[in-house]
Amino acid sequence: MADSFSPSAEPRPDSPHADRLHPSPNHGERRGTDRPDSIILHYTGMADTAAALLWLANPLSQVSCHYFVFEDGRIWQMVPENRRAWHAGRSSWLGETDMNSRSIGIEIANPGHDLSKMPPEPGAYPDFPEAQIEAVIRLVADIKARWAIPDRRILAHSDIAPGRKVDPGERFPWARLAAAGLGLWGEPPPVPANASAYRMGDEGMPVAALQAMFGRFGYGIEVTGVFDKRTEDTVTAFQRHWRQEKVDGVADGETLARLRALMAPKA
Ligand SMILES: [Zn+2]
Repeated sequence: MADSFSPSAEPRPDSPHADRLHPSPNHGERRGTDRPDSIILHYTGMADTAAALLWLANPLSQVSCHYFVFEDGRIWQMVPENRRAWHAGRSSWLGETDMNSRSIGIEIANPGHDLSKMPPEPGAYPDFPEAQIEAVIRLVADIKARWAIPDRRILAHSDIAPGRKVDPGERFPWARLAAAGLGLWGEPPPVPANASAYRMGDEGMPVAALQAMFGRFGYGIEVTGVFDKRTEDTVTAFQRHWRQEKVDGVADGETLARLRALMAPKA
């Protein structure tokens, strides 16, 4: 399948930051669009990086990604950017449910959380090495520039599949990406200690209002007025990305202030 990268000249990666091609057969036509408008970041969630790479190139796995970033910062391209790679699965963002058709998927080698316990213990997985993060930043910057990807569409797998996926998790340094001009970040003003917090089982207008706010931001959530499992999963996913110091599924004042800060029009 290497010839799908380029019909004429020697096949070369789409990104100048990719070291080489390592083609996966797992891809298809993008549906409803011919160009990506989102970037989805993942961790591989496998202890063995070589095994993760094999899995993503195995026709039996039916999964793939566009780029694979090793711990040491090497980047290999597995699927051409103009093709639909199979990394997002069942997902939703801003009402779109075929995120594979709209995105570039990047797998970051990391063993990830122990998923025999769900939800997994926050923070209980290895840090991403510096060289790997620098490589991710270079790659995302290049893809964002070439495809004019909006910052609000640079997302975690967990953002588009709350409750089902937790990667790349709360140890992923989203603030560093934002400092490099990649993705949204918001620092809210200090939150009063007596600010309201909402949690599993709460009901009423404030719960409906916060569900509506998470939905407007992009999450696939229904406005039911009941703080249900779906709401808790959504709040948890938000915290893994934008309030990493406390990932507990409680919509406390700090969590909601951060959401408001992200939604405020930029001056
Ligand atoms: Zn993933």
